[in-house]
Amino acid sequence: MNFHVMTLFPDMITQGLNVSIMGKAIEKGLISINAVDIRDFSTNKHMKVDDYPYGGGAGMVMQAQPVYDAYKSIENNCKKKPRVIYMTPQGKVFNQSIAQELAREEELIFLCGHYEGIDERVLEEIVTDNISIGDFVLTGGEMPAMIMIDAISRLIPEVLHNDVSAEIESFHDNLLEYPQYTRPEEVLGRRVPDVLLSGHHKNIDTWRREQSLLRTYERRPDLLKDAILDKKDKAFLDKLKG
Ligand code: SAM
Repeated sequence: MNFHVMTLFPDMITQGLNVSIMGKAIEKGLISINAVDIRDFSTNKHMKVDDYPYGGGAGMVMQAQPVYDAYKSIENNCKKKPRVIYMTPQGKVFNQSIAQELAREEELIFLCGHYEGIDERVLEEIVTDNISIGDFVLTGGEMPAMIMIDAISRLIPEVLHNDVSAEIESFHDNLLEYPQYTRPEEVLGRRVPDVLLSGHHKNIDTWRREQSLLRTYERRPDLLKDAILDKKDKAFLDKLKG
């Protein structure tokens, strides 16, 4: 998967994503990160990329021309027209199923705004998806793009050491994951649940499934309506509801 990020702050992207699991995935060639500096495409002699908004109002707006030229420089090197994701608080809110859908692409372009945003005309011309990371406003699209790239990358085969771990995690089947424990057996006066020490795999699976249902019921009951539940799950939830 090749991620292209159009930004005014390319160092933020390259430094932010070059560590830990993401750094290793880049090193192994499983993903690539191409941070494209929109400022490099300014035709202004002071390398300016923003200007005052027509109609007045606070702040500056990123101009269409450098954004469009930066986009063309990426598109010209792609085999097919890639999806262009504009990071915006006005977009569809990002979630695991969007991450799964995007993980099937070969190339993705992320467009990060700054200041008051970007001239609407270039957005109309190049953007295929408007995506938000939540109902709040940040100063720029770089952190949202990094969040999306992280979430998408870990779904790409071989990026995680343990292939199954993305499959049993929170949101995979619209349930939150069960609690996790590691050594020692007792810490801060609290013991690991006995069942996890029993070596009885069937009981462990049942306990984990029930914890997962309980956690989702307590913390994110809104997820349950789309969860895939069998008869035993439903009976367990009915008991919880009393
Ligand atoms: N004036 C814009 C509005 O009201 O919709 C907000 C601009 S915001 C200050 C600057 C940039 O940060 C946006 O262009 C976008 O790229 C990014 N951004 C801010 N909040 C975001 C969010 N919740 N999700 C994704 N991107 C966001």
